[in-house]
Amino acid sequence: MEAPQRSSMRRGACPSLSTPMMTGDGLLVRLRPARPGFTLRELVAISDAAALCGNGILEITARGNLQIRGLTAQTVPLLSRKIADTGIEIAQGLAIETPPLAGLDPSEIADAVSVAERLRVAVAAHQPPLHLAPKLSVVIDGGGQLNLEAVTADIRLSAVRSNGQVLWLLALAGTGKTARRIAALEETAVVPAVMNILESLAAIGRDARARDIVDAALKRRTATIDLDEIAPMMSAPNSAGIHDLAEDCSILGVGLPFGQIRTVGLRSFLEALEILGATEIRLALGHALMVLGVAPERIGAAQALALGHGLRAFPRDPRNHIAACAGVRACASAQIDTRAVAQTVVDTAPALLDGSLTVHISGCPKGCAKPSASALTITAAPIGYGLVVNGPASAAPTAYIEENNIRTALEHLDKLVSERKQAGESARSCLTRLGADVVTAAVQQG
Ligand code: SF4
Repeated sequence: MEAPQRSSMRRGACPSLSTPMMTGDGLLVRLRPARPGFTLRELVAISDAAALCGNGILEITARGNLQIRGLTAQTVPLLSRKIADTGIEIAQGLAIETPPLAGLDPSEIADAVSVAERLRVAVAAHQPPLHLAPKLSVVIDGGGQLNLEAVTADIRLSAVRSNGQVLWLLALAGTGKTARRIAALEETAVVPAVMNILESLAAIGRDARARDIVDAALKRRTATIDLDEIAPMMSAPNSAGIHDLAEDCSILGVGLPFGQIRTVGLRSFLEALEILGATEIRLALGHALMVLGVAPERIGAAQALALGHGLRAFPRDPRNHIAACAGVRACASAQIDTRAVAQTVVDTAPALLDGSLTVHISGCPKGCAKPSASALTITAAPIGYGLVVNGPASAAPTAYIEENNIRTALEHLDKLVSERKQAGESARSCLTRLGADVVTAAVQQG
């Protein structure tokens, strides 16, 4: 009999196949493919393995990683074997992320995939091995329609054009807008510069993150140009919907409803997609997957197919604007059924979901689904729910809603926004203008 896998309860750890994480519905593993995509057969094989070894629920995370839930110490080794049998290479160690359409999008500035591959090789070959924080991440962003500008990373490399030359902007600890800019590098200098940073982090200690690095030490090692003049990339649109890359090349982005899908539904969707000509699936930001290979004249049929499977296939799908964590039955810390609340928001408060804000539903104050502040957060509270206006899940709620009153409270909120919104005003602007006191009074009436 095989030795049971080591498991972790630590939420800061990364639940890989070798270190699955214990959750409310058993062990969970997170998989990152080493290459950008899966064939449809490969993803069907993973889905079947998840059904056999887990509880039949697959997730795609907000950052586009695959998660398999409901595993046990006995079934994790079987899952490992099943995945090894598919021949899919699973990335280990340091997370190195590239945009989902890297290498395909003609509007990209540079090829992130080849830089990522060279960095992976350098990290793997480093002696002695680098012991880095489990959640340390490197984003390598060549630009394009679905760029990673909004993704937070320890180390960011963003392709930029400067005086007719392509350079890589190196920045630390943040999104494309907030990260500290360190240097603009020619491509040959990129991997050595990142390796320098990784060595510095390893020297600080196993939990060191990029925010712990002193900029001055880095600047001595890397040449810089005028970094302040480099404009940030345009924000990427929501992944859900059709993305036209060229006249004869469209890609369909499909989001999982509140981040989850049953394996039986995924299998049926993939089989039907194959008939429509799909050849490859890539994981994407926003709990989404990108469908490649469908001819332009059939992409509408693929979109309808996704909708028929309950998936988010349109940019205007109101579910695109809700962030919900795993919730009860899936997380031991959860006190509310986050997905049921999310569906109630969709059903009763469409005026909130105009795309101007994200409604965050959190099973506890940790706020895993959206650690930053949200215009509206519904979180667990002793009497049922707490409503936080303009804050994270950890903030003190401005209003409390009894368990049986959540539907009525949301209807009141919907009415408030629908009736008080001025011409051309978004839900976010309306809520900001009205202020927390008015919002609180609305949800607590009746
Ligand atoms: S925020 Fe949600 S997923 Fe995170 S620990 Fe709390 S209940 Fe669990």
